Amino acid sequence: MIPFNKPCVIGSEMTAIQQAITSNKISGNGSFGKKCTNWLENQLTCDKALLTPSCTAALEMTALLLNVQPDDEVIMPSYTFVSTANAYALRGASIRFVDIDPGTMNIDPKEVARAITDQTKAIVVVHYAGVSCDMDEILTLANSHNLWVIEDAAQGLMSTYKGKALGSIGHMGTLSFHDTKNYTCGEGGALLINDPSLSERAEMIQEKGTNRSQFIRGEIDKYTWRDVGSSYLLSEINAAYLSVQLEHASKIHHDRLHSWNQYNHGLLNLQLAGKIDLPTVPNPCEHNAHMYYIKMKNQSERYQLQQFLDEHEIVTATHYVPLHSAHAGKQFGAFIGEDTHTTTESNRLLRLPLYYGIGEEAINDVVNKIQLFFQP
Ligand SMILES: *Cc1c(COP(=O)(O)O)cnc(C)c1O
Repeated sequence: MIPFNKPCVIGSEMTAIQQAITSNKISGNGSFGKKCTNWLENQLTCDKALLTPSCTAALEMTALLLNVQPDDEVIMPSYTFVSTANAYALRGASIRFVDIDPGTMNIDPKEVARAITDQTKAIVVVHYAGVSCDMDEILTLANSHNLWVIEDAAQGLMSTYKGKALGSIGHMGTLSFHDTKNYTCGEGGALLINDPSLSERAEMIQEKGTNRSQFIRGEIDKYTWRDVGSSYLLSEINAAYLSVQLEHASKIHHDRLHSWNQYNHGLLNLQLAGKIDLPTVPNPCEHNAHMYYIKMKNQSERYQLQQFLDEHEIVTATHYVPLHSAHAGKQFGAFIGEDTHTTTESNRLLRLPLYYGIGEEAINDVVNKIQLFFQP
């Protein structure tokens, strides 16, 4: 059986966790946490990185940091994970879903432009499959309308746009270390702050609205309640696991890229024959091989291929049900403009098995079975 995903394990995670335990400090923002945030700040060149219990939590922090209020509008793609929308819906904002570019499945800047009103507070972009959105266009729009830009870079660690790390381009970015992502600790995430004016409050919101982080650094002699906040810390047990993954990021990155390229090479003939579409990576983007997907002619052909692969013990996965079509999506937001691509592209997309260490043999098997499916 070839599973769809296997959480990444390097091998020395247990040793790091043991070290955390013997250090007598397993709550958040300890030495393993510091190791991870230093790595992120250096690797991505952001002003501040904070480890959070999830990308969902980091997105919630961005809504608190921007003081998102009822009546504010937040623009995002409909083709995304629920957390992108929930973070702002939780604050009462109205979600403005817009269409995607079918080539990348990323938010279409032209549709964003049409959705901007006097109520618009922020644009939230999602770098699908670790391939960057058109950030130049997004930033130009945001600057001319004085809007915040948040990057949901849950899938984007180790990807770049014009040489800049995803998550480090907008005012803030968020990462996920869920076990379905390239670098993991089971459940975890990070908030990346690129606008230094947000950093001090971000630390307080993470620490239950107190200035405890400044107290721990010895900058003040007593910490107090300063702001709204919650507990948005990652345990040192998780940070220890994560620190090993980040240390080996390059190895994980290249292993995944190798597998991604093998799929892309092995399936090219089917694209040339007009049977399927392969993912596109625009020129300014270097991607992290977060996902390999193909697009079938339509939903029923996708279903047939998925069944066929399942019979051969190959597990594949569809992806997002467009949020604007979901019960809560209708309650908290609306689709602005025409749904030209979101629903049709979502219906024909199928994700293939891809994880650290999957190996050439397994990918060969998947490629061969897909070729077999199309044989007359
Ligand atoms: C995985 C993912 C999330 C949620 O991440 P968690 O760490 O599980 O909260 C949010 N947005 C996108 C685009 C994701 O892929």
